[in-house]
Amino acid sequence: MTRFRGPKGIDDILPPRSRVWVRAELAFLELSARFGYGPAITPLFEATELFARGVGESTEVVEKQMYTFTDKGGRSLTLRPEATASIVRAVIEAGGTAGVMKASYWGPMFRYERPQAGRRRQFHQAGVEYLGEPAPEADLEVIEFGYRYLEELGVADVEVRLNSIGDAADREAYRAELTAFLEERIDLLSADARRRVATNPLRVLDSKVDADVVATAPVPLDHLGPAAFEHFERVKAGLERLGIPYVLAPRLVRGLDYYNRTVFEYVPRGYGAAQNAVGGGGRYDGLFELLGGKPTPAVGLAMGVDRIILAMGEETLPRVLDVFVVHAGPAWRNTAVELTSRLRREGLRVDIDLGDRTLRAQFKQADRRGARGVIVVGEEWEGGRVTVKDLETGEQREIPVEEIETWALRH
Ligand code: AMP
Repeated sequence: MTRFRGPKGIDDILPPRSRVWVRAELAFLELSARFGYGPAITPLFEATELFARGVGESTEVVEKQMYTFTDKGGRSLTLRPEATASIVRAVIEAGGTAGVMKASYWGPMFRYERPQAGRRRQFHQAGVEYLGEPAPEADLEVIEFGYRYLEELGVADVEVRLNSIGDAADREAYRAELTAFLEERIDLLSADARRRVATNPLRVLDSKVDADVVATAPVPLDHLGPAAFEHFERVKAGLERLGIPYVLAPRLVRGLDYYNRTVFEYVPRGYGAAQNAVGGGGRYDGLFELLGGKPTPAVGLAMGVDRIILAMGEETLPRVLDVFVVHAGPAWRNTAVELTSRLRREGLRVDIDLGDRTLRAQFKQADRRGARGVIVVGEEWEGGRVTVKDLETGEQREIPVEEIETWALRH
């Protein structure tokens, strides 16, 4: 028999570990509602051209990492490597933002990467896009959103790395200066960086292998025009007022023309070396026009769920069942099934062992399945009572059947 293996570089996420994913997703849904975002549900694949334009021909993602295929109609399609281009395409197609539109998304993205921990070929992003608002306080709110999300999930001690790359117009002069700087040192640069000097010199700034060379390069922060400068001052002042710690990261860039002003990323201090950002984002006032829409200011972020879950560590899995019903032998099975059905209809989270396992094995199962308590249906039932055990405290006692709900909800 052929034994199949999942595709390389992609994780299967199964119970019980997937409980952590549910926790991360519920926290995201809850927080995005609290911040006024509504979900945007867009295709998992799009015309290849959308990403070539919307993500950028000269980016690593488009150059090397796209999962591109031809469909039966001869169209070139690509599995989405990120969601922003799709959302902007969808909003333009729907006629624009009609003022402000705040969209959130959660789902898988696809990039042909060299797999390693925290760098997968299918990975999950949770993101928000704040569309139609030029005020720096929108950048501030988006940065706060990501920070609170990490806080909510217990990813402590996060550094917000912050930069401004100015406006497209400020960059003309800066780009020339940077290109001259890099050309003088062309022999010291990596092959990738050398190629980028001509196509996308800003990207060389955040190249890790070229860090020594670019350490003394001119940075965008020193070339902000007055409007971009004022915008950045307001973002920083806002972060200080909200108590969100940040550090300036003058070499943090998104090297595409439709990105402007604010860029940021989140790096948990305790977590891994190379691939260490658990999320990032920035302002992209030029993207709507680039994709054929009306000029629309926008700022957004994408959080890397896989990396966040790694950073959450191997803490104990959340308990997800209010009770697990066990039965003291086959004679009690029907009663146990009925009780389970009733409790579920009342809104409790309940599971049951339907097999012929011993009590001991059923208790073990209850713990493994993430129950907070166990109800034993056995002889006591005749007298209108059940034995209950709290799996968190270990306390065990008998209670009247009518008190089951109160007991199950107490903890
Ligand atoms: P980006 O869309 O490249 O700005 O990425 C935003 C976030 O997504 C990053 O900060 C990472 O946390 C996460 N991410 C990007 N690529 C991958 C990948 N291949 N595997 C896992 N997470 C990723």
